[in-house]
Amino acid sequence: MNTTNKKDTDPDILQSKVDIILELEEDLIFILNRGGLITKVNSNGLQMLEFKEVDILNHHIVDLIATKHKEEAMKAFNDLIEGKPELTFEVSFYSYRGKEILFDINAKPVYQNGKMSEIILVGKNITHLREITDEIENLKIKLIEANRLISIERQRANQRKSLLDELNKMKSEFVSNISHELRTPLASIIGFSETIDSDPDMPDEMKSEFNSTILNEGKRLARLINDILDISKLEGGKIEIVKLKFDAIEMLNEVIQAHIKSAQAKNIAVTSDFPEEEIIIEGDKERIIQTMGRLLNNAIKFTNEKGRIKIIAKNLFNEIEIVISDTGIGIPEIDLPYIFQKFYRVNRPGTEIAGTGLGLVFVKQIVDLHKGFIRVQSEAGKGTTFAIKLPKKNL
Ligand code: ADP
Repeated sequence: MNTTNKKDTDPDILQSKVDIILELEEDLIFILNRGGLITKVNSNGLQMLEFKEVDILNHHIVDLIATKHKEEAMKAFNDLIEGKPELTFEVSFYSYRGKEILFDINAKPVYQNGKMSEIILVGKNITHLREITDEIENLKIKLIEANRLISIERQRANQRKSLLDELNKMKSEFVSNISHELRTPLASIIGFSETIDSDPDMPDEMKSEFNSTILNEGKRLARLINDILDISKLEGGKIEIVKLKFDAIEMLNEVIQAHIKSAQAKNIAVTSDFPEEEIIIEGDKERIIQTMGRLLNNAIKFTNEKGRIKIIAKNLFNEIEIVISDTGIGIPEIDLPYIFQKFYRVNRPGTEIAGTGLGLVFVKQIVDLHKGFIRVQSEAGKGTTFAIKLPKKNL
């Protein structure tokens, strides 16, 4: 009955069982002596590392370990020698052809008579696994980058869309403003003409008053249509600048005279501060008159009753500076960068100040054509100042 037991403990039988287990094992197995020399390696291990047994037996394990992992592996072996019961770590071995093969190592010391005699290493080849996880990591990084680019593109598309929406909104606002602006004078022209027509006994005085309203409204209509045509001509580069020498002070006085009635109608005081002498400049007098007229007209339009408007002219060395300031409703800081853009109008809910958002576009274009410079300063509720510099000798 004891024969089996005897056989089990027979060293030869035990050795051949161990050999069979070693050969059947899919992973790499190294048996090292206390000094770290390889005393046994299984054939799958040899196959993975492309070595023959003679190349490897009695070599120190450290010789096989890739440089980058040597220090870490030495530390692990020392820990085992010093009594650690088990250790796992990753290590790359050099194959016969110098390729690095990564293993996940499980190491256990073998004790004999209380002393460590050998170390058994079982290593799972994780090179392929690592390549896959590295690939996944790379893909993840690429995916994050792709997502970042997609979100940038999405943001850009949204910006483009909101810009287009804004442009469309501005266009439809412009069409509705223009229609309103055209309809208002037309309605008075038609209304007053019909009244005159339907009342043959209308007193002459009243008839002449109505006629003058019709004339004014007709002029306003013509002005508006000219505005639209001017802007489209300016935009197409078709506008012609007629250069003439003229006195800018006289021109400014003309502009003030042309607007004084509408200022007085709102009890707005218009004052000027001009030098005694003439300031002769070269430029398109008509266009500059229109430009100053538009600025003064805006100052009156956006200033409440009893406000003040001041026009200053300065005779500088090569240029003239004209400053128009008002104590009006001002332009909010947020709108200031846009006021020279076509169709841009400050949104003032609850107020109905007529306009097309074209006046300042015209002003800026004319100043630019004269190689001049315009700037604006404003504070909501306090007032606005437009300053223009024009070279005295043009082009
Ligand atoms: P609009 O025909 O609407 O007056 P403009 O191009 O002349 O067009 O002006 C653009 C906008 O700038 C106006 O809608 C107005 O809100 C603002 N603005 C221009 N001048 C003044 C001013 N002196 N005071 C306050 N706001 C002004």
